[in-house]
Amino acid sequence: MKSTTKRGFIVLLLVAVFTVGLVYLAFNLGTNAEKWATLRVNNHLVNDGSFIGAGNVLDRNGEILAQTVDGERVYNNSERIRRSTLHIVGDSEGYIASGVQTAYKRELIGYNLVTGIYSLKKYERGNDVTLTIDSSVSAIALDALGSRKGIVAVYNYKTGEILCSVSSPNFDIRNKPLTEEIEKNQNGKYEGLYLNRLLDGLYTPGSVFKIITASCAYENIPDIESWEYECEGEMFINGVRVSCPRKHGKLDIEKAFAQSCNCAFAEISKKISAAQLTNTANAFGFYDNFTFGNSFTEESIINLSDASASDVAWASVGQYTTLMNPYHALTIAGAIANNGTAKLPFVVKNFASPSGRVVKEMTPEEVVYTTPENAKRLKELMRSAVENNYGDWNFSGVTMCGKTGTAEVSDTEKPHSWFLGFSEDEKCPLAIVVVVENGGWGSTTAIPVASKVIKEASKVIS
Ligand SMILES: [Zn+2]
Repeated sequence: MKSTTKRGFIVLLLVAVFTVGLVYLAFNLGTNAEKWATLRVNNHLVNDGSFIGAGNVLDRNGEILAQTVDGERVYNNSERIRRSTLHIVGDSEGYIASGVQTAYKRELIGYNLVTGIYSLKKYERGNDVTLTIDSSVSAIALDALGSRKGIVAVYNYKTGEILCSVSSPNFDIRNKPLTEEIEKNQNGKYEGLYLNRLLDGLYTPGSVFKIITASCAYENIPDIESWEYECEGEMFINGVRVSCPRKHGKLDIEKAFAQSCNCAFAEISKKISAAQLTNTANAFGFYDNFTFGNSFTEESIINLSDASASDVAWASVGQYTTLMNPYHALTIAGAIANNGTAKLPFVVKNFASPSGRVVKEMTPEEVVYTTPENAKRLKELMRSAVENNYGDWNFSGVTMCGKTGTAEVSDTEKPHSWFLGFSEDEKCPLAIVVVVENGGWGSTTAIPVASKVIKEASKVIS
């Protein structure tokens, strides 16, 4: 009897050990299977360092941007399309971490926990991905930006779909610069080459920030609609000079915004507190990190905690220490166009199996920045700026609203040139951000870029 109990105990012990082992195995499989299946040593996936296991990468019209042919990853035949879509499509080796080919590796090889990479073994290719990108608009954006550093991005503010996002510097993936060449180069030609400036860029906004200051004024100054100011070309706050390029004369808030009068905005800054300006900026997404594939955008920064009255005046015109991310800026334009709520910009429409079955559809998130009433007032200011200052002739056929920025960065460099805007016409719901690094005036550098890209984008969207 005693030995039977002992044997029973041993069997129970064995069963327990076996069960613990099974649980451990299942846990390990569940948490590591994807990692094991997608290891770069797996020769279904990687050939000579290149990620061949992915399906096709297509633009919104079915144009193939990347595919695997005979065990090689090959890209679109047009160099303009290869360069202009580089930072969105990504490279085969994964240097461009935010590129779709790296960010959505799991979806592109068709991995799932139940069947592993069965689809890849059966069809010899993973899932296809259709992007929201339009390759013809992207190519025009590349032409417009040229070899200058910066970013041009356009999106549909009703759906969140990005039509183009061109980041410069870029390179032709068929003639990738050698790592030694990139490392040895001293003149900044390759600065941030693998970064998508839409997501990773952080720039002084200059007068683009007047959108936020104007919003703060509407929220906090009761008589702002009847307020008037006489610009003499300069003014002083505690002995610190704030200047305009010329005397703007008598202005109300609409004219001050349209003519981008620094003195008028410095005067407005005296009527609002640093805390109020910070609160408005925060409500409009400063310090937010937006998710983009497997990446997060850089957060825009405003810090007025130790700011003097003259610092707040300079902050109100987008200088001081304020920095803005272009993706975030695009969401601000999108929100104002869309009654205060931004659809967040994205690039992946869907994933489909090699047999054409859609396996994953992407839907945009949205974020509320302001009330519809306030969005309407800001829209009127931005409409007036295009109509009465920059000129509607820049955007023939499209009723644009916008704001330029000429952001001072140092005594020795030219300012960054910005344009942030959107079409008022809801049948052509486009919003655009342009930043040309050290490009000079917003009106003479960024607007011509925006003009060419909006013209092309409006053709494909309407
Ligand atoms: Zn002025």
